[in-house]
Amino acid sequence: MKLLEDMIRENGTVLPGEVLKVDNFLNHQIDPNLMYELGGAFKRLFADAGVTRILTVESSGIAPAVMAGLQMDVPVVFARKHKSLTLVDNLYTATVYSYTKQVSNDISIDRRFIKPDDKVLIIDDFLANGQAVQGLMEIAAAAKVEVAGVGVVIEKSFQKGRQMLEDAGIHVEALARIASLENSQVTFVQD
Ligand code: 5GP
Repeated sequence: MKLLEDMIRENGTVLPGEVLKVDNFLNHQIDPNLMYELGGAFKRLFADAGVTRILTVESSGIAPAVMAGLQMDVPVVFARKHKSLTLVDNLYTATVYSYTKQVSNDISIDRRFIKPDDKVLIIDDFLANGQAVQGLMEIAAAAKVEVAGVGVVIEKSFQKGRQMLEDAGIHVEALARIASLENSQVTFVQD
């Protein structure tokens, strides 16, 4: 998506460890007009998927997920992060290792917010090694609902997340695909 690639080129900075910082439009300050466009792109890409609900993880997945939910007219549920859980009876829970923070968090969704006949679209800000998406897929499996696909704003294609999801037969769409962050330069995958 050209609009998003331009924003990344103009505003993104590359941090050590091949981390892309995009905190002035996605991860801290949020550009609502851009988010709305991203939501429309997800709607087009998953138009035939029969999506009934969107799942994401707090906090940076929420903005694009809400805009996709608005455009697709489906509810959005974000998994909450917990350090430790004592009361798990009414929750679906998975453990996720965070690439950027290098810690494991439990994420959980209240059972009331996933219905048995749901077809869920998983949305997140970044796809790197696929841990966050994997956690949401575990929750979807525990809830016995179908995963219609995975939509991410930015995919770091040099990490293994997409391959892992495609190997599992998942429909993956990324609005920007980064081939490399070497030498602090952002290089996009050529279509
Ligand atoms: P994964 O679970 O796919 O390894 O990593 C995805 C999660 O880690 C995303 O939810 C995102 O919060 C964070 N993440 C991974 N790589 C980056 C990056 O380069 N920049 C930023 N800002 N977040 C990242």
